[in-house]
Amino acid sequence: MGRLYLEVVTPQGVLVSQEVDSVVAPGTEGEFGVLPDHVLFLSGIVPGELRYMSGSVKGSMVVTTGFAEVSNDKVSVLVDAAEKTSEIDKERAQQAMERARRRLAKERESEDVDFARAQLALERAIARVRAVDKTA
Ligand code: ATP
Repeated sequence: MGRLYLEVVTPQGVLVSQEVDSVVAPGTEGEFGVLPDHVLFLSGIVPGELRYMSGSVKGSMVVTTGFAEVSNDKVSVLVDAAEKTSEIDKERAQQAMERARRRLAKERESEDVDFARAQLALERAIARVRAVDKTA
């Protein structure tokens, strides 16, 4: 079987750039898996866990919002932020989750809260906490 090349890029730099055997990523239409010889594919990316296998090594990271392209055995993921699950600060994510929940619990009319922004922050925080708990 051929191999895939995975690249995960954020505005801060390249988080992953390596050969892998398979990738599972959180797409807007649900989780999608990629193996070598995949057809050309484009998808939005939503906050969640991105996993890959490389030989017997499993990789796990959390990606936030962006998009992915699968083309010629290359999986390119461009997202606002991403970090390896092993490097996630769970306490920070829990605090972000509580902050977002407090904001979302306020009156919809309240002008000092950007609800869409708080909702996205909540989704990022949940994805981080889930990924850490899963690999714990
Ligand atoms: P916070 O409110 O805690 O900053 P956030 O969801 O607003 O969370 P992002 O804007 O998604 O944070 O990310 C900003 C930077 O911080 C990115 O580089 C991201 O990888 C990193 N980051 C965010 N949360 C965590 C975390 N819990 N552990 C490790 N790195 C994190």
